[in-house]
Amino acid sequence: MNELYEYASRYTPCKKGCSDCCHYAVTVSEVEIAFIEKFTRVKRQKTFSSKADFHGTPCPFLKNGSCSIYDVRPFVCRRHVTLTSTNTWCNPNISNNETFPLLRFTSLDEAFDDIRRESKSFEFYDIRQVFK
Ligand code: SF4
Repeated sequence: MNELYEYASRYTPCKKGCSDCCHYAVTVSEVEIAFIEKFTRVKRQKTFSSKADFHGTPCPFLKNGSCSIYDVRPFVCRRHVTLTSTNTWCNPNISNNETFPLLRFTSLDEAFDDIRRESKSFEFYDIRQVFK
């Protein structure tokens, strides 16, 4: 993902400090929750919130406009890259008003699904249901 992202970075307005997409739904599976816990000091909540729609709410790991768990961020964050000429449509207040074609990371998606299957990590949660 890092290599692909480095290539795509020539064509994207995404840059450090722009965190609009950290206000969208951020799905995490059990294997990613365990990965975040293992490499950060943050532990999951004892009871996950039942709220499901967090669009517009910042991710708990967004600190001063940057990802505080960048090296262990969820797969969905690694896949997110904008290929429009500006980040105008990334604004969570208008991002749902349009649809844009998405890059497909088919083989990586399949590899990620294999990891989830092997670790019996079938459920998805929003990161804000799990971490504060
Ligand atoms: S984990 Fe990091 S990159 Fe992903 S939404 Fe949260 S702050 Fe943004």
